[in-house]
Amino acid sequence: MHPLFDSSFSEQLTAAAHEIMQVIAPERVHFNAQELYGICTTGATRQIPFAVKAVDRNEILHVLSVARAHRLPVYTISTGKNWGYGTANPVENFCIVLDLSLMNRILDFSSDLASVRVQPGVTQGQLYQFMQEHGHEFLVPVTGAGPHASLMGNLLERGYGITPHTDHFAALLSLEAILPNGEVYSSTLNDLGCGNINHHFKWGLGPYLDGLFAQSNFGIVVECTIALMRKPQSISGFIFTLNSPKDVGKAAEALRNLSQSLPGILGGMNLMNSHRMLAMTAPFPSAQVKPGESISAELMQDLCRQHNIAAWTGIGGIYGTKAVVKAAKKEIRRQLRPLAKKLTFIDERTLSTLNLVSEYVPEFLNKKALVLLSQKARKVLDVVSGVPTEAALPLSYWKTQKKYTAKQKHNIATDDCGLIWYSPLVLNRDLEIEKYISFVQRICQKYAMEPLITLTTVSERCFDSTVPLLFDRKDKDALQRAQQCYQELLLEGQKLGFFPYRLGIEQMAQIVENPDSVSWKLVEKIKNAVDPLNILSPGRYCPSKSVARGSASS
Ligand SMILES: Cc1cc2nc3c(=O)[nH]c(=O)nc-3n(C[C@H](O)[C@H](O)[C@H](O)COP(=O)(O)OP(=O)(O)OC[C@H]3O[C@@H](n4cnc5c(N)ncnc54)[C@H](O)[C@@H]3O)c2cc1C
Repeated sequence: MHPLFDSSFSEQLTAAAHEIMQVIAPERVHFNAQELYGICTTGATRQIPFAVKAVDRNEILHVLSVARAHRLPVYTISTGKNWGYGTANPVENFCIVLDLSLMNRILDFSSDLASVRVQPGVTQGQLYQFMQEHGHEFLVPVTGAGPHASLMGNLLERGYGITPHTDHFAALLSLEAILPNGEVYSSTLNDLGCGNINHHFKWGLGPYLDGLFAQSNFGIVVECTIALMRKPQSISGFIFTLNSPKDVGKAAEALRNLSQSLPGILGGMNLMNSHRMLAMTAPFPSAQVKPGESISAELMQDLCRQHNIAAWTGIGGIYGTKAVVKAAKKEIRRQLRPLAKKLTFIDERTLSTLNLVSEYVPEFLNKKALVLLSQKARKVLDVVSGVPTEAALPLSYWKTQKKYTAKQKHNIATDDCGLIWYSPLVLNRDLEIEKYISFVQRICQKYAMEPLITLTTVSERCFDSTVPLLFDRKDKDALQRAQQCYQELLLEGQKLGFFPYRLGIEQMAQIVENPDSVSWKLVEKIKNAVDPLNILSPGRYCPSKSVARGSASS
């Protein structure tokens, strides 16, 4: 046992591990949990006594009953790739990590009703492979976290992507969850014997309770049904650039107008600043930047010129029949042309032409540039077409000594990547966008962090912005600057009306422990009702009362 635990707590943990191993195979109980689950991109450290990989509901029930008996906290993960927000680490110390990645069955797939029912460990890549193998033409709700990240963990954090089912929790149709007392929750329609309808109707009957299981700690979700989007006859990506940073607010409003005038035809759209594009295009220029400083404005200008990077780049996807996509392109051209320097549409046909040209063009005619262009275009088309890729992961390695190399299954946490996501919601209005950008630039500059800004349309009204604070985790000074920078972004942003849609484990207590908030007090009351011993993921988006730990119940 870990030397930091006092002896009676340690005894309870030893007894609990022993009891757990009476039902769960010892090779799935890990005492090197600190190494396996405790390494975090944000630099957070939690004491994790041990971890259990459960393979079915009975094993989960057993872990919970042992946890209740010994008053020990348990923290559930699906695949534990909550990178930038805590990775697989619990919010509080001394939790047993309950890893559900081996519960990875696709339980049901309905081609006619366009839905899939999955266990926690099912990954984006696995669903994609399933579709390919069975010839099903649906889009996987992909994210930048790549093929090995779960669908469920992401959805329970209310994560998003840029396919038309942008908001992943919005695509949830139903779920089942084991409550801390061992009861199994499903919506009222299921209890009425109408399971099939339940799996395909989001709201159930009566108060909507499924929502209680997202960004919370009220249950262990063991399966969920997700609405899928059928692959339309035609998908086209589009990419555009803005010459002047001054036009970004106007471009944001143009995207809002496009979403409103082409409802259901466009997916989520991204606007990315030059720092963000640079990090995805070229290595960090460490030779030209002194330690403890960030890229200067002059160097940034040079690098942008060198790599042909504009002040802002936008991408998006169009979905529909060929005629609909053609008409939508016309509308996009009409609305973006006054602002965009370049506007290009990419589909499978243009991409194969580009590939063909780059294959036959001789070296002296800049073959390399054409090949690069075709690779970039492929990435954009894959992302909007719901093809899981690792295309976004190299970003995490920008400031690290270890470099991203293709063809390996990446774990950015154990590769020393330092990453904290600041992901605030921003109203889609010109002036708000400008205010937001100058605020992020100012705070990042203060801490010598590059401001890598993306704005994604999560609705017609709001952007969610993601700012990855990148650093080398081995560099203590950079880690401290990144953590302080996040904290100032959080607090200053709040004053200006910007606040994250999702929190990291380090910030939860500071936000939820608020005696003046009726909402957080209600959350606490619900928690007390469903989990009086506070054994399930204590502190996760919920005030955490102190409970005597490690005292066995009689
Ligand atoms: C380069 C990069 C790009 C990224 N791009 C995106 C993006 O486009 N969109 C996005 O949303 N995120 C993105 N992320 C952030 C993050 O990596 C993903 O959200 C990822 O899907 C979360 O990890 P996971 O799926 O393994 O979930 P987990 O880590 O397994 O789960 C997340 C949390 O949910 C809770 N939880 C998980 N499973 C259960 C369960 N069964 N029952 C109860 N509670 C549970 C736990 O508290 C857990 O900590 C990105 C990260 C990186 C590094």
